[in-house]
Amino acid sequence: MSNIVVIAEVRGGQLKRPSLEAVTAALQLAAGTGGKVVAVACGEGLDAACADLAKSGAQQVIAIEGAAFANYSGDAWAKAIAEQAKGVSANAVLMAHTAMGKDLLPRVAALLDASVTTDVVAVAFEGGAFTAQKPVFAGKAILTAKSSKPVFCATLRPNNFAAASGGSGAEVTKVAAPAGDLLSVVKEIVSSSSGRTPLQEAKVVVAGGRGLKEADNFKLVEDLAAAFGTGVAAVGASRAVVDAGWRPHREQVGQTGKVVAPQLYIAIGISGAIQHLAGMRTARTIVAINKDPDAPIFKVADYGIVGDAFEVVPALTKAIAEIASH
Ligand SMILES: Cc1cc2nc3c(=O)[nH]c(=O)nc-3n(C[C@H](O)[C@H](O)[C@H](O)COP(=O)(O)OP(=O)(O)OC[C@H]3O[C@@H](n4cnc5c(N)ncnc54)[C@H](O)[C@@H]3O)c2cc1C
Repeated sequence: MSNIVVIAEVRGGQLKRPSLEAVTAALQLAAGTGGKVVAVACGEGLDAACADLAKSGAQQVIAIEGAAFANYSGDAWAKAIAEQAKGVSANAVLMAHTAMGKDLLPRVAALLDASVTTDVVAVAFEGGAFTAQKPVFAGKAILTAKSSKPVFCATLRPNNFAAASGGSGAEVTKVAAPAGDLLSVVKEIVSSSSGRTPLQEAKVVVAGGRGLKEADNFKLVEDLAAAFGTGVAAVGASRAVVDAGWRPHREQVGQTGKVVAPQLYIAIGISGAIQHLAGMRTARTIVAINKDPDAPIFKVADYGIVGDAFEVVPALTKAIAEIASH
């Protein structure tokens, strides 16, 4: 009977949605192992987030809470989480493939003498072993990794699993954050994207490329994203426009940018280079708007509009705004 730990991510007291997606993956594994799912959160002011975790379907919630953990500290958090994972005899530890997940889970894995598979899109427990699937070669192939260590660790691509809900209310155990373990202290966090929907968590990504001709024309992209309503869509960009200084790097989608898997990805004036596809080809539905009918983006698109972005996008924005307002 193998128990599964989910490391939950909490920002400003709020549980991040990809953590609930990790609970879904953990529940899938637990159905095979016969074990339980234990969600572990670190920080200060965790009550609301733990209440959400308690309703997620996880059987136990552990809050490692205290002023010493008010801000993220990889070394101290990893140590505290690894202790809890050992305490509940975890054989698997999952976390979302976010900036924090990429930093924290490998640290936890090292303390548990485990390996980590990153950016995973499917997990399974078969024949007594944990397996993970992840896209490789810019998304052209899927690699299946089998864990040979006693503890399996994986970061999960956001927006790939459904968010868990419908639990009957798990017990929340509070553990005091150890104060003496901080090798480094985060003094201040300055958000570069306050008020924006995080790119990797957005249900809809509206992305623009060099076909928009100049930076100011990204207003078309922003207006279309806004038409979906507050908190639904985020703006993305190709590397060509990021390199040109039209958009910030945090919006870049692709091999050297962010990997996104929204329900809807709208690519406007983007050719569909392999490096761009690496960041968005697992989106549920892809819509491409390009005036070149032979643009490679149409090979991965579910719906393609061959036309001039400057005519098509305003009409689409108007139509979406009308639908969203009903
Ligand atoms: C190592 C490496 C890593 C890379 N990493 C990334 C990455 O992470 N992300 C990324 O995006 N790229 C990446 N690239 C760059 C990638 O190869 C492409 O150069 C880039 O994606 C092209 O951006 P684009 O599609 O905006 O521009 P272009 O390729 O110039 O395409 C512009 C498109 O706009 C269309 N168009 C023009 N006018 C209009 C109009 N009026 N209406 C509609 N359509 C129009 C054109 O038909 C064309 O298809 C990387 C490259 C390398 C070598």
